[in-house]
Formats: sequence, C-alpha cells, structure tokens
Amino acid sequence: MAELPQHDAGDRPLTAFGPDFPFAYDDWLGHPAGLGRVPAERHGARIAVIGAGAAGLVAGYELMRLGLRPILFESGRFGGRLRSQPFEGAESIVAELGGMRFPTSSAAFYHYVDKVGVESRPFPNPLTPAAGSTVIDLEGHTHYAETLADLPPLFHEVAAAYDAALEEGAQFRALKAAIRARDAAAIKALWDPLVRDWDERTFYDFVASSTAFRKLGFRHLEVFGQVGFGTGGWDSDFPNSMLEILRVNLCEFDEDQRYMVGGVEQVPRRLWDHVPDRMAHWPAGTSLARLNDGATRAAARRIVRNTAGQLDVTDQWGRCEAYEAVIITCQSHLLTTAIDTDEALFDQKLWMALDRTRYMQSSKTFVMVDRPFWKDRDPATGRHAMSMTLTDRITRGTYLFDNGPDRPAVICLSYAWMTDALKVLPLSTERRVDLALAALGRIYPGLDIAGHIVGTPISVSWEADAHFLGAFKGALPGHYRYNRRMYGHFMQDTLPPGQRGMFLAGDGVSFTPAWVEGAVQTALNAVWGVMRQLGGESPGTNPGPGDLYPTLGPVALPE
Ligand SMILES: Cc1cc2nc3c(=O)[nH]c(=O)nc-3n(C[C@H](O)[C@H](O)[C@H](O)COP(=O)(O)OP(=O)(O)OC[C@H]3O[C@@H](n4cnc5c(N)ncnc54)[C@H](O)[C@@H]3O)c2cc1C
Repeated sequence: MAELPQHDAGDRPLTAFGPDFPFAYDDWLGHPAGLGRVPAERHGARIAVIGAGAAGLVAGYELMRLGLRPILFESGRFGGRLRSQPFEGAESIVAELGGMRFPTSSAAFYHYVDKVGVESRPFPNPLTPAAGSTVIDLEGHTHYAETLADLPPLFHEVAAAYDAALEEGAQFRALKAAIRARDAAAIKALWDPLVRDWDERTFYDFVASSTAFRKLGFRHLEVFGQVGFGTGGWDSDFPNSMLEILRVNLCEFDEDQRYMVGGVEQVPRRLWDHVPDRMAHWPAGTSLARLNDGATRAAARRIVRNTAGQLDVTDQWGRCEAYEAVIITCQSHLLTTAIDTDEALFDQKLWMALDRTRYMQSSKTFVMVDRPFWKDRDPATGRHAMSMTLTDRITRGTYLFDNGPDRPAVICLSYAWMTDALKVLPLSTERRVDLALAALGRIYPGLDIAGHIVGTPISVSWEADAHFLGAFKGALPGHYRYNRRMYGHFMQDTLPPGQRGMFLAGDGVSFTPAWVEGAVQTALNAVWGVMRQLGGESPGTNPGPGDLYPTLGPVALPE
C-alpha cells in the first residue's frame, strides 16, 4: 500500500480535493516524476476512447504521454458538453451551450487550460463585480442591486440561514478547513459519517429541516429555492441527494467562477493538437491529432470481447478493430441505447448503477446583440438598463456577456433546469426567444431588447440530443452506492478477467457531476487503470489515484 503523500497546502487556495476521494490530482499532474510508465513492450498499445469531450481528450492526452495509442471515437460534436457555438456571421462570438463558468477550485481542469493557453476572466454571476448589477424578480417584485448590501433584509436572512444550515448539518467550516489544508484523514473523519446520514435525504429536506429555516418559515425557503447561493436558483436540485449539493459547496464550485475568452471548446480542441514537452515512445511533434490520423473515428456502435481477450470496437461504418482497453466517457445510458455493449463486460451490479444513473434536463437560449446596451444608465434612476437577472419567471437566469468594444455582445436569455427546461423542450428556438423576451419585458418594461438582436438565436436542450439524453448527472437519494460502483470501477485487480479492460470516466461517473473538474479527475483515474492493466505503475515518489484508493477511496455503505 502506498504511503500517503504529504501535502503542504500552505496558503494555496482551496481546490476540489475530495471529499469522497481526497486525492490531489493537480499535484499528481504537476509532479516532475510524471504520472507513470508502462513497460516498453506495451508501448504503442491501442486504447479506444469513446467520446471526444473533456474526459476523452484528457484521457487520450495522458495515454499518449505514456507511450500508448489512444484512438478517439465521437458520434456528435468534438468537445462534447464543452460546446461553444459560434453565431452565424460572427465566428468568434459564441454561445456557451454546455459548461460556461469554471470555478478556480477546478485545479485539474485548469492544469489543461493553462497548458493550452486559454485566457479566462471573471464570470458575470449574480452580485459579482463582473456582472455590474443584478436584478432579482420574484412574485412580480423587482429588486435592483449592485452589491449584496443593496438587497432587502429578506435576502440576507436567507443567505445567513443557509450558512447556519450548512454548519448545523455538515460541520461545514471544519470540513472546508480540512479540504483547504488537504488533510485527507480529517476530511474522511468528517465526510464519511455525512455520507451515511445524508445519502438518502434530499437537498430540500436538509434545508427545510434545519433549525434556521424552520424558524424563518416557508417564504424564506421558497426564496432560497429561487435565488439560492453563488450562481443562482437551486430549487431544481431540491429532489437531489444532499451529498451532491454539499460537494458543490465544499469544493467551492459555486464561487470564484471564470469564463473562457473565445469559448471553452478551445480547451479540448487545443489539447487535440497539443504537442507535449515530454512523452514516452512517440517521436517529437506527436499530438493526439497525429496519432488519430487527423480525425476522430465515428460513433462506436458495438463493444465485445474477442477470442484473443482484447476488446473489439465496431464503429458506425462497420470498421471493427481490437483494443487493449476501452475508456467510455459518454453518458452511461448510451451503453444501453446507442452502443451494443456485450453484457458480460460488466457485473450486473454495475449495470444497475449505469442504468439507474439519473440525468438532469437543461436548456439554454442565446441571442447576439449589437452592443452591451445593458450598461447604459437610466438618467432618472442611475440604474443599468438591464442586469444579470434571476427570476421565478420562465427565463430563470439571464446572463450578459460583454465581448469588448466594437464587438457584438451576447445574452443568455434563459438558462434553466428540469421543469423549466422541459417547458421549452418541444419549442423552436424562435418561440423560446419570444417567451424569454416576453418574460424579460415584464421585468424591464419599455426596454427594447429585441431591437438590439443581430444574427440568428441559438438554443439547446441536452435531453433532446441522442448523443447525450440529458445534461448531466444529478444523483437522487440512495444513489451513493451506484456512484461508488462506477467511480471505483477503475480498480480492476480483483475483477474476473472477462470484466477487465473497460474503464468508465466523465461527468456521470464523477462524484461532482455538472462540473468539468469531475470529468477530468475521473479521466485521470481511468488513465491510471489502463496503465496498471498494461503492467505499468506510477513512480513511488508520485503515487497515482489507484495507489491511494485502497486507503482513501470513498467509504462503502452496506449493500
Ligand atoms: C448545460 C450544461 C452546463 C454546464 N455548466 C458547467 C459549468 O458551468 N461549469 C463546469 O465546470 N461544468 C459545467 N457543465 C459540465 C461539463 O460541461 C461536463 O462535466 C463536461 O463537459 C463533461 O465532459 P465528458 O467528457 O465527461 O462528457 P461529454 O462532454 O458529454 O463527452 C462525451 C462525448 O461522447 C460522445 N458520444 C456519445 N455517444 C457516443 C458513441 N456511441 N460513440 C462515440 N462518441 C459518443 C458525445 O457526443 C460526447 O461528445 C455543464 C454541462 C451542461 C450540459
């Protein structure tokens, strides 16, 4: 068993270190000894990577550095849920249809952002300086604020009540201090009992049963659902397991978020072409693009073990090739609906987890506008013409993106989840824009938003896309065991031989779904698993996730 590495957290900012598996992915990535090595005779071994999103690109990139040959398959759009769709006629002005705000605690993700040199800036979240001003419109009443202090006492009471609930229900300050200090033992001592206590209870239960909210009553609970914390309303997450929400708060995923200038899709695209400084086996100048002959394969349609014990992957056009291992990064339901996956490749308990995984719905509607007209001040009130807007109306969250002088700006008219996303699911983009403009018209009477629109609007409903079937995982009460089965599947030493070689990675496998950091971390777990399967190992000075998993892995609940 590997020794626990000592982390000198010093005054480093808090990162997503655990809480389920407190492993320092950023330290592992940054260590001068590298991630590991595979025996020279396995160099060039072919590994299939299903999906060219964040997880697929990260896994592919690191497998290449180990001297392996990752072959990427993609059925839809390169980049997956890091999708920056350019507006027609304005190529560098984009709508961020998937991930759009990236907390700085996402240390493993930012390792790659920095590697490929994508610039980031503060995201215009509610009540942040980047937003300038915020409007909260609830039950027909509109509040304008440039700072938190401008809001009426009700909102301060709600924020304070949630802080108190976190402290009461989760020893929040102590847990955060342990995460900040990278004290794995302290994290587990505090977190593991919470797993037992809260896996089967919802976010709503946590808030509603807290002393603070019970004292205040339903109205405060309702306002919390609409306005939430950090990034906006959270009532669509009320039915989720509270563990899911605690991880967001503990890892500060709701704080200090940045957007990627020019679009986050540049990160996977640049990683595809990136030539690493150091790499085993491959000649200088090798990139993922070169190893893949310049293009991803098409959709994977069938995965089956062949008589030689390798895994045969057949693509959409019938090409069938053998691989030493397969990394799956697409949504787990697609293993049932889109890929004919030999049932014998996974244990039935894992199939239960893959099929029970619950994905949330999400829709976004964007327009491009001639200029950031919202910054104009009303001479009578001194207020901005329009603000970042949170509302109980159909738009829910409206975000404003200033692309700089002399360039068109962008409005995310509506970013909605679950019921609010379903309301627009069958509707055309134009109809969604009309509905959003009508709602915003009631909040900003007299403001002609439509008159500023240029180009063609863009919208997305991830659940309507056959390559996804949903936006991201949102674990329900009782799903911890499923999550743990999927997450820990990269530890394959004790699996029967017929179930080895398939590795699960990506958003839906992570304990922190809806945040790209989880996709990256699980991709790195899969890289370690593949390395191990091929007889390789991490250096003793830089143990990998699998080396520390037996000691630090997520707590087991009784089955
Ligand atoms: C609406 C929305 C908002 C989000 N907001 C944020 C945010 O603000 N901040 C943040 O950090 N994260 C956010 N996320 C989460 C983040 O986008 C994801 O965690 C991350 O992009 C997932 O990467 P992945 O590689 O796991 O999966 P994906 O990006 O989904 O990649 C999997 C790929 O597999 C492909 N595929 C499917 N079937 C097959 C097949 N048969 N053969 C080959 N390929 C196949 C898919 O087309 C897809 O490209 C958001 C996600 C969504 C949807």
